[in-house]
Amino acid sequence: MINLILFGPPGSGKGTQAEKIAESYGFLHISTGDLFRSEIKNKTTLGLEAQSYISRGALVPDSVTIGMLRKKLDEEGDFSGVIFDGFPRNILQAEALDEMLARRDQVISGLIALDVEEDEIVNRITERAKTSGRADDADEGIIRNRIAVYEKETAPVYAYYEEMGKAHKVEGKGDIHTIFTRLCNLIDSL
Ligand code: AMP
Repeated sequence: MINLILFGPPGSGKGTQAEKIAESYGFLHISTGDLFRSEIKNKTTLGLEAQSYISRGALVPDSVTIGMLRKKLDEEGDFSGVIFDGFPRNILQAEALDEMLARRDQVISGLIALDVEEDEIVNRITERAKTSGRADDADEGIIRNRIAVYEKETAPVYAYYEEMGKAHKVEGKGDIHTIFTRLCNLIDSL
């Protein structure tokens, strides 16, 4: 069984690529961003709480995020391989994820980081805003804040898995298909 984390800054293409990988390898795709957006759409208490953080590009508190992920994994029951997209976003979440998997006798097989430069990701998110309808994509100040949060809180997660010999980098520049091929080559080698 393979459990992967697709990692990278906002706008690096994680969502698009995670969806393709899940389809191609038969993995369960879990995107915490998508889970939050669905809660917001359904106007749940969790959604209302999360919205105030998401709308300013901040991380939703760990207790809320980890609780939501735990519930999702419990609902899925037995799964054969997961690709996590947008989670973990800090060390505490990484430790919680490792613990949730350990209780199922599973581990993270690898973290794959999409390497993309900051100017490129701002351009991509601005472009995505035209069709995504995401308020957090439409304002450059919020985008820059999400990138700053990524650098400060999320980037250290790479080193956390690197210490275990599980972190990998893939060039995230290029067209969707080229990047997907690079990712598949790496996954097949794990
Ligand atoms: P994403 O779709 O992954 O870009 O996530 C959109 C927003 O949801 C982020 O900017 C955060 O506000 C929130 N979010 C998603 N995943 C997490 C997470 N693992 N921890 C905290 N907040 C998150």
